Amino acid sequence: MEKLNIVIFGAPGSGKGTQSEKLIEKYGLTHISTGDVLRKEIKNGSKLGKIAEEYISKGQLLPDELIVNILADTLDKCEIVKGVIFDGFPRTIPQAEALKKVLSERNMDISVVLGLEVEEKELIDRLLKRGAISGRSDDNIETINKRLEVYHSQTDPLREDYIKEGKYKPITGDGTIDDIFEKIKKVIALL
Ligand code: AMP
Repeated sequence: MEKLNIVIFGAPGSGKGTQSEKLIEKYGLTHISTGDVLRKEIKNGSKLGKIAEEYISKGQLLPDELIVNILADTLDKCEIVKGVIFDGFPRTIPQAEALKKVLSERNMDISVVLGLEVEEKELIDRLLKRGAISGRSDDNIETINKRLEVYHSQTDPLREDYIKEGKYKPITGDGTIDDIFEKIKKVIALL
């Protein structure tokens, strides 16, 4: 059977991690979250972790070349049975181009880009709430504002390209976690 390779796309706080968990459980996908990879490196105190921390704490993106290498490495290390979910990657146009190349070299392709569309005010509310629980160093109002600004200037433009390619499926982010997941399942059923 054809593999289901999903890019889960959206602003910080749009629910990418939450919906990824549900997708993994339902479809048996392998999760690749560049943010999770970096947070693990920080926890381990590695050299990469130290570099990552500098960017993450400021709400900035890591350089494309570095993150593309991390992505390709992670992809090669993981076992893919039914498909992959890319969470938090790509975030820039060069990253999207690199992803295409990395995938085609491995005879893979993106099946769909699920775009979680959530209003700005709701994003900020959710991120502040998450910060109070998770203790993530980047979930404070100053860094949140910077991350949203970075999202609008560098990541959101990718949407247009994926729309042109016919891969982008918008998912409105209102309703409960389960309501949103129902919408996602409907989109996947039609692929
Ligand atoms: P996330 O958990 O996906 O929100 O990522 C947290 C932080 O990790 C981001 O704000 C960036 O600093 C860094 N990061 C994660 N993914 C990427 C990426 N694809 N490109 C550059 N930086 C990234």
